[in-house]
Amino acid sequence: MPWVKKEDCVKCKICVNVCPVENAIFIQDDGYPFINNNICTRCGLCMEKCPKNAIRPNYENPSLRGMGKGMGHRGFGRGLGYGRGRGY
Ligand code: SF4
Ligand code: SF4
Repeated sequence: MPWVKKEDCVKCKICVNVCPVENAIFIQDDGYPFINNNICTRCGLCMEKCPKNAIRPNYENPSLRGMGKGMGHRGFGRGLGYGRGRGY
């Protein structure tokens, strides 16, 4: 499931505008988009269009690290996001 990496997001809302599924991605009170994975179809359009590459695939989600998945993808480099992006 995709998730929004807040450190990289500039709140441009492009992802919300390109998403073909109503309310699958929406702007939260803090101005950052949030993906409702219950209705998101994983079409990948938001990831493709985000100018900051802030929408990241599941295997990069720091909250899932330490579960035996997600390691070995360090080619993406900087900022693993610990301490931010909590809960998702
Ligand atoms: S992957 Fe597709 S359906 Fe899911 S939030 Fe992004 S644009 Fe919307
Ligand atoms: S397109 Fe990318 S930078 Fe713009 S609001 Fe969406 S996640 Fe943030």
